[in-house]
Amino acid sequence: MEKLEPIYEGKAKKLFETDDPDILLLEYKNTLTAFNALKKTTMEGKGALNNKISSYILQYLASRGVPNHFVKMVDEVRQLVRKVEIIPLEVVVRNITTGSICKRLGVPEGINLNPPLVEFYLKNDELGDPIVTEDQAISFGWASEEEIQKIKNMALQVNQLLKDLFKPLGITLVDFKLEFGKTKDGEIILADEISPDTCRFWDSSSGDRLDKDRFRKDLGNVLEAYQEIWRRLSAKGEE
Ligand code: 5GP
Repeated sequence: MEKLEPIYEGKAKKLFETDDPDILLLEYKNTLTAFNALKKTTMEGKGALNNKISSYILQYLASRGVPNHFVKMVDEVRQLVRKVEIIPLEVVVRNITTGSICKRLGVPEGINLNPPLVEFYLKNDELGDPIVTEDQAISFGWASEEEIQKIKNMALQVNQLLKDLFKPLGITLVDFKLEFGKTKDGEIILADEISPDTCRFWDSSSGDRLDKDRFRKDLGNVLEAYQEIWRRLSAKGEE
């Protein structure tokens, strides 16, 4: 079904065309990168876990009114997704301070943000994905004013739905990154994965990190943390 050469190969995924011009095949790799790929490793089984976790979450969101690119899982490491034109912004939602915001603003880790914060970063590896203002995004034409408002609303809706999903599983959603795309009809939908590579998950009772920070900070048991997220989600049952 899929063509042999990827049309795109990123740090953690490959994209292939299919016979349907509106559908792409997304393959999850076992590579794990951090700090703009300065740190890199391979972890057997990571791709399969992210494929399952992301499929679960995107189905959960779709059934609750958040349109996204997920179509169906094909096998352990591959899923079909709708083809979109990616908006060149990374959208980060933060509930609790940690990571880059602490470095940038000199604030301590662990402050509860109320209301949650929505930030925009320009997708540009060479520049290290710099933070941008909404006005910059609009004036440079990365998204229209209407699209920015839509994206913000969707990001906050996703935040609430993910908090509702993870809280009963004993997991605190600290922050996460989203990407959005435009379909050929001009509809803005959620694209890309939602997984422990793109979210910070803290165990609600122990505070243990259950996400890519285990790799970023050399905490060990990286794959075990991803498995734990999948264990708790799958124990909850089908979405
Ligand atoms: P921070 O800005 O604190 O580094 O990251 C905030 C949140 O967005 C974290 O959950 C982090 O995993 C996610 N995030 C930010 N930028 C990227 C990125 O380029 N790739 C991935 N996979 N996640 C990102």
